[in-house]
Amino acid sequence: MGKIFLDHIGGQKLYSCAACETNLTNKRELISTRFTGATGRAYLFKRVVNLVYSPVQDRVMLTGRHMVRDVMCKNCRAKLGWMYEFATEESQKYKEGRVILEHALITESEGFPEA
Ligand SMILES: [Zn+2]
Repeated sequence: MGKIFLDHIGGQKLYSCAACETNLTNKRELISTRFTGATGRAYLFKRVVNLVYSPVQDRVMLTGRHMVRDVMCKNCRAKLGWMYEFATEESQKYKEGRVILEHALITESEGFPEA
């Protein structure tokens, strides 16, 4: 495989892969910090870059049935969380297309002021 092209989302308060520090998203994309993943606390983001996605899986959660994809770091392939592809419950539709990153698997940094 050739060089992996990575995006940089920019902004202040960056969230990156804990294993390789590839930039994933920032504070502006953060929707909620009140989710729970396999490793504990998990954050819901509007947009996350530099991910690879697993095939869709059918998963029943506390909030109903969802179609989700696991998400991995594009650079080092570490598992980071999952993406909501489709929610069957009307009240959970806002999560469609959004991404969960597990807090234990990402790091927070200050980033650079925008030019
Ligand atoms: Zn990584």
